[in-house]
Amino acid sequence: MESAPQTPTMAAAGDVLRVADLPGRGRGLVAARNVREGEVLLSEPPVLLYPSTLSSLRSYCSACFRSLPPAATIPCVSCRAAAFCSPACAAASHPHLLCAALSHGGGAGLAAAAPTEAIQEPLLFLLSAYSLPESTMRSMLSLSSAPPPPPGAQDAAGLHAAVAALAPPHMLPQGLSPDLTAALLAKDRGNSFAIMEPYRHGMSLELLKARAYAVYPRASLFNHDCLPNACHFDYPDRPGPGNTDIVVRALHDIPEGREVCISYFAANWRYADRQRRLLEDYGFRCECDRCQVESQWKDDDDNNGDDGDDTMEEEGEDDVGDRGDDGIEEEEGDGATNGGDDDFPHAYFFVRYLCDNEGCWGMLAPLPPSPNGDLSHVFECNLCGKLRKEEDVIPDEGTSGMVH
Ligand SMILES: [Zn+2]
Ligand SMILES: [Zn+2]
Ligand SMILES: [Zn+2]
Ligand SMILES: [Zn+2]
Repeated sequence: MESAPQTPTMAAAGDVLRVADLPGRGRGLVAARNVREGEVLLSEPPVLLYPSTLSSLRSYCSACFRSLPPAATIPCVSCRAAAFCSPACAAASHPHLLCAALSHGGGAGLAAAAPTEAIQEPLLFLLSAYSLPESTMRSMLSLSSAPPPPPGAQDAAGLHAAVAALAPPHMLPQGLSPDLTAALLAKDRGNSFAIMEPYRHGMSLELLKARAYAVYPRASLFNHDCLPNACHFDYPDRPGPGNTDIVVRALHDIPEGREVCISYFAANWRYADRQRRLLEDYGFRCECDRCQVESQWKDDDDNNGDDGDDTMEEEGEDDVGDRGDDGIEEEEGDGATNGGDDDFPHAYFFVRYLCDNEGCWGMLAPLPPSPNGDLSHVFECNLCGKLRKEEDVIPDEGTSGMVH
């Protein structure tokens, strides 16, 4: 506990977390030592990386998923539908079944099989997953599965038939079966992380989409919390190797032994929407500190977040008028360290860790401490990349972080 301070470098990241069996929560990741705010907890390369839609093939390198330079892109010599950013990426190429499917009918075959983006995503996933070497496929299949989709939501049999029709028979992997396809789709739904399109100043954040999806076996062990203590970043356009690695950083100090959680979606989602998503895609009901508070809100109280900061702040005040003190303060979790906000105990969390760029709702985590251990006090948004100084979050000691 009182050991010599450790230098929080990328190299130490492997030691920061350990896998633990958590009562009532299954496997999860806990802090293997005391962690300081902003520390890199995990930096991990993907085992699978695939384009989110057919249109993203035109904008991003099919090997490294960096934005394609406007000129001098290198088309795939086999399918002519994918493009690469450099000779090295062209040599690395892209998944062979996906390439074959894109060659099918000059690329029209895949477009016809997947007319909507909702079908393109799982089809591009399957073509990429079935191109994996057998050992990687085995590690994919060892990940936890999402529950079966609601009826009509995903046609695994139809997707399986499309894969079999699009790939030349001699290229189809051994073991290809409708059951394996359904099993892989459940891994995708339960474990894929989005790698986002680059944010450009002034663009509508609602239009911000995934450029690719990626599977990271260790990062997929993070459990969800609606008041997470860590969040993940991607930096796909940064130069050098590892541009598609997921990077997870601590929002605040985390004591040794405490579970480290991320939020599986934007933290401003309403209670009912969070519960629905977690149940459908991950098969559990969330009973975190925040959900315990918000489960007691009346339905019409539960509309914070969608309409911007103002709504959220008013919501906290409305609660005072509507109900007075109904004991919510007792539920206060460690995300709320300030006093005086008994009816919206997590306001401090939102003010400090949610991006205030209009419509963004990304999560802010401090930049990593310097090599000599100095905290950065600069927060970075994991969606739009905005940097915000700590003193701009909480103007002075007198305000408790609650905005009125
Ligand atoms: Zn590339
Ligand atoms: Zn190709
Ligand atoms: Zn929750
Ligand atoms: Zn942001």
